[in-house]
Amino acid sequence: MRLAEERKLAGEKRLAKPKRVAKAKTFKKSQEVAKARRDIKNIRGVHKVVLDAGHGGRDPGALGSNGLKEKDVVLDIAKRVKKILEARGGYDIRFTRDRDKYLSLEKRTVISNKHDAELFVSIHANANPSSRVRGLETYFLNFASNEQAMKVAARENRISLKRMKKARSEQEVILASLQLQNNRDESLKLANFVQDSMVYSMRKYSRIKDLGVKQALFYVLFGAEMPSVLVEVSYITNPEEAKRLKSSNYRESLAKGIASGVKKYFDSIHPEHKIAMRQ
Ligand SMILES: [Zn+2]
Repeated sequence: MRLAEERKLAGEKRLAKPKRVAKAKTFKKSQEVAKARRDIKNIRGVHKVVLDAGHGGRDPGALGSNGLKEKDVVLDIAKRVKKILEARGGYDIRFTRDRDKYLSLEKRTVISNKHDAELFVSIHANANPSSRVRGLETYFLNFASNEQAMKVAARENRISLKRMKKARSEQEVILASLQLQNNRDESLKLANFVQDSMVYSMRKYSRIKDLGVKQALFYVLFGAEMPSVLVEVSYITNPEEAKRLKSSNYRESLAKGIASGVKKYFDSIHPEHKIAMRQ
């Protein structure tokens, strides 16, 4: 969604109160229908997940001093996550992009909603002007909790921090009554599983910094009709992490961690599948 459209939406919300109630009801109904459809699909315990490799094509994302591009690293990690989950069985993994292709943020959400997936996981690598900054973090969609989270969101959304702050105040109007509320708790749960599993999976490496679960406004997550998170796998601007991101072992460990977080999330909501698979 572009800023102009958001402004329009925010304006509509303020002006037409009865319409908003009607819209919210319709929305709730469509959410229920979508959930029922997903539940039916889950009878066999096959979980559909959309993996979104950040950036792509003319948008390289963040750049490492070693020449590494965020768009390449995250696509490779996404492919590894797919392989791991599908090898486990019970997963149907879709991509927003499976090659070096430019995709707008809006298009990514449209793709994920079209797949009618249960979860949306966007994979990114972090950047900071200071090469000393390092660590792994996972975001879910909400108001930015601090200046640093807002900076990350501004970069990933490819807008200035000033515009990000302005967007935040506009978004507050929209977010108060929209689908965000429906998915926020589930997204937070998913974010915690992914973050914890990822950090655990990296325990064999020294100096792994767990930056925890954070909240910020990511346009790529806005409008997604399912619980969704954005993972920042490491800082590509930190020389040691950039070097590690270049190695397939490190990428594989990250992918294992993300995959394990997704699995734990499903185990928590469908314990019967976990039992069935054990037998
Ligand atoms: Zn990114």
